[in-house]
Amino acid sequence: MLTTVEHPRLGEVTLSQSRRARRISISVRGAGDVRLSFPCGISARRAMQFLEQKIGWIEAARERLAQRRAALPSQLPPAEAKARVEELRRAARADLPGRIERLSRLTGLKYNKLTIRASRTKWGSCTTENNISLSLFLMTLPEHLRDFVIVHELCHTVHHNHSPRFHALVDRLVGGNEKALNGELKAFSIRG
Ligand SMILES: [Zn+2]
Repeated sequence: MLTTVEHPRLGEVTLSQSRRARRISISVRGAGDVRLSFPCGISARRAMQFLEQKIGWIEAARERLAQRRAALPSQLPPAEAKARVEELRRAARADLPGRIERLSRLTGLKYNKLTIRASRTKWGSCTTENNISLSLFLMTLPEHLRDFVIVHELCHTVHHNHSPRFHALVDRLVGGNEKALNGELKAFSIRG
């Protein structure tokens, strides 16, 4: 049985309870997706306690994955690197417009227009006209970090700067986790 839970520090965690599992185990894959597997005889609560003890390990694994991903593009032949960008662009077009719409409704922060770019230097930006631009490389981030970047840009529609008032607004909208999320985001670098 597969379920997902929203962990305050790790974001989305997939719980997989199965007859085949012999013990509790954790895997970190792809863009840092965490899966917690455990046998039928063990409760989800017990499995989550195990997860809590391994948070340091999970964060280190995510960092290693991010570094490996960052090192990847230079090894890709140009045609493959280009194909990968196009793949991310398709994924971004399918994901980001709905995501920013939902977050805009949720926060009450209105923006003007969304543009998706292949920016390797910035995850996102917001103009004085409240046009928001998002990097298609956001698709390489776990979803909760993608949301965090978008909330950050939406807050720029109110404060067009990085003043204490801007950060206070971001922090309030992400449940007091701005610092922690920024730290997590730093483990990922933009690369194709
Ligand atoms: Zn900013």
